[in-house]
Amino acid sequence: MARAPLTGSRRLLARLRDTMAGEGSAQERLDKIAGIIATDLVAEVCSIYVLRAGEVLELFTATGLKPSAIHNTRLQVGEGLVGTIAANARPMALSDAQSHPKFAYRPETGEEIYNSLMGVPILRGGRVQGVLAVQNRTQRHYTDEEAETLETVAMVIAELIAAGELISADELHAVESASLLAVTIAGVRLNAGVAMGEAVLHEPRFVIERLVSDNPEEEQQRLREAVDEMHGAIDAMLEATDVANGGEHRDILETYRMFAEDAGWLARIGEAIDSGLTAEAAVEKVHNDTRARFRNQRDPYLRERLHDLEDLANRLLQHLTGTEGDDIGPEWELPENIILVARNMGPAQLLDYDRTRLRGLVLEEGSVTTHVAIVARALDIPVIGRATDLLDNVEPGDIVIVDADEAEAHIRPAEDVQQAFTETLRARAQRVAAYASLRNVPAETKDGITISLNINAGLFADLQSLDETGADGIGLFRTEIPFMESSKYPDVDRQSALYERVLDLSDGKPVVFRTLDIGGDKSLPYWSSFDEENPAMGWRAIRVALDQPVLIRHQFRALIRAAGGRDLSLMFPMITEVSEFDAARGLLDRELERAEKRNRPLPKQLHVGTMLEVPALAFQFDALLERVDFISVGSNDLFQFLFASDRGSPRIADRYDALSPAGLSFLGGLAARCDDAETPISLCGEIAGRPLDAMALIGVGFRSLSMAPSSIGPVKTMIRSLNYGDISRYIQTLQSMPVHSFREKLREFAIDHGVMI
Ligand code: PEP
Ligand code: MG
Repeated sequence: MARAPLTGSRRLLARLRDTMAGEGSAQERLDKIAGIIATDLVAEVCSIYVLRAGEVLELFTATGLKPSAIHNTRLQVGEGLVGTIAANARPMALSDAQSHPKFAYRPETGEEIYNSLMGVPILRGGRVQGVLAVQNRTQRHYTDEEAETLETVAMVIAELIAAGELISADELHAVESASLLAVTIAGVRLNAGVAMGEAVLHEPRFVIERLVSDNPEEEQQRLREAVDEMHGAIDAMLEATDVANGGEHRDILETYRMFAEDAGWLARIGEAIDSGLTAEAAVEKVHNDTRARFRNQRDPYLRERLHDLEDLANRLLQHLTGTEGDDIGPEWELPENIILVARNMGPAQLLDYDRTRLRGLVLEEGSVTTHVAIVARALDIPVIGRATDLLDNVEPGDIVIVDADEAEAHIRPAEDVQQAFTETLRARAQRVAAYASLRNVPAETKDGITISLNINAGLFADLQSLDETGADGIGLFRTEIPFMESSKYPDVDRQSALYERVLDLSDGKPVVFRTLDIGGDKSLPYWSSFDEENPAMGWRAIRVALDQPVLIRHQFRALIRAAGGRDLSLMFPMITEVSEFDAARGLLDRELERAEKRNRPLPKQLHVGTMLEVPALAFQFDALLERVDFISVGSNDLFQFLFASDRGSPRIADRYDALSPAGLSFLGGLAARCDDAETPISLCGEIAGRPLDAMALIGVGFRSLSMAPSSIGPVKTMIRSLNYGDISRYIQTLQSMPVHSFREKLREFAIDHGVMI
């Protein structure tokens, strides 16, 4: 077959590769490379700066500049144009470089006669290793193609640097671990806390070993084969979902496959191969270009498409480098203190990591309601979500501080920042030890009111916390979490084994099982979900269960079986009107009859309650109280509906406060009516676990709270320093004030009265 004509950049790459493989020291080869690039790009200057320890860019070679400048001219990262290119890791092309505000004149170089400059970062594995620049006397307008050629060439120079002959391997290592500046990225707090550790990228980037090829046909053939393999794998996925789900996921996969066949994308990869790159380097290059183009794209639809393309590029790289499965995922050698960094991830993927090493999680996407955040809360690790441009800024092995309390991630923090956080962490650890000593003391106020403290759970790991914290029981067992962890729908046998284990491990302490709260945004891998404008207010929880009763009937069957001879408490999520409670209760009764007919042991005592998280239900309260054995207020959902304020939206998540006139009078009203009717009421939303908020809840009449296990200690400490009579009277004096929030007033009360919040 006839070879494609050599394109300009291929010829250049071929010459560079020959030079790299040729005679001479690394410095001599670098000098030659600069000469070749200058000639090829018709530039008067070609200079190469190499990044050395201490964030210094040193001029290593320069065709066209004064030779005395070589190894003498040094710039800090961020200094001058070259330093700016390194700091931003982005190319720059300027026809009038000297008028740029960042231009820093270095007399030893003699560069004052050159007007135009084009520079690109020398990148390897996403890290800056140096800068490659060309200059011309005239005010030259460099073309996009010329910039692309320079970027491709920079990939080759990166290999020469990485070989460790220009600067020692030790220094290179030092540079690699500190080659980028410290950055702080703000996001949204998904779980409070502070942690420090080494970044582990959930989807690590591939390091491409072979960049240049002089046999484009062979590379095109490799690409074709890899694309075929990838299509085959996607088809297999399509077939598998057809069998398992009756084609419910087909649409998503079809769209994905369409992208995989995108002629434009494949053509761009083909062109990059024709320019002299190997197939894998070509995929990487096109991928880098796509990322750069989408960098500032805020349209969620287009960003989703970028994720699809990223995923496809990764798959293609897996096929090309033959690393399917071995380089990705948590199997590699992991650091002792893992800060997991991901675009987004599923709950099961988080659980694949060694929990004893997992310290924190930072996501580029994600909201409070994402499953992974719920699971991370159960694991008690701090989580930050919506950390914009996270993946562009973090490299594996970077030191990362997750300060979820302030919703900030510090990447590669300076030594003193690290020290300050080490102190904070030490102080926290001391507090945790102090809480552990409270395990066996009652949660009793100074004036003798006992508060029942319970934990929210969803994993077996939480059951260990039940004992460790000395909590009274499990106030909310989110049964959807085991469903989310499972790769297929757990049948009745699997469910009942699971619930039985939960009851065994809780060792007689009460457990309130909440029936499945899926649908909306809590989708399951094997469950057909559909797009909704407002998934939190959509087809979820009891709505799904009543429309597809087989789901909840299986769950009831499993719970009844698991509890045979023991007490069983269960409640329904998202009940909006009493008739829904009746319908769910009716299905439960049918399952009880079924078990009785089969002579199965029934639960010793059955308690059936409801979550109160939709405001409408409060307007049928008397009818509800006649039916339920208990009520649990789901304040997370309740307040987003009460205030019409999406709990997952960073702009408004903190706009309205539960500790406001409306919030507290609503909650106080519920507590008072339950008290009159002698119906137990508890609260299991996030506010129960915050000492100041919990103080207010007790003040308006709550005697039972359920929270993340890590909150038991702080809340118990608060309770033991509180006088119920004082807080209750104080709140009564506040309630008529038409202010935005009572939070500050309550904080002052706590400080004045020595309440440990
Ligand atoms: C709530 O809404 O307050 C609640 C506890 O349920 P979830 O957070 O699981 O929706
Ligand atoms: Mg809820």
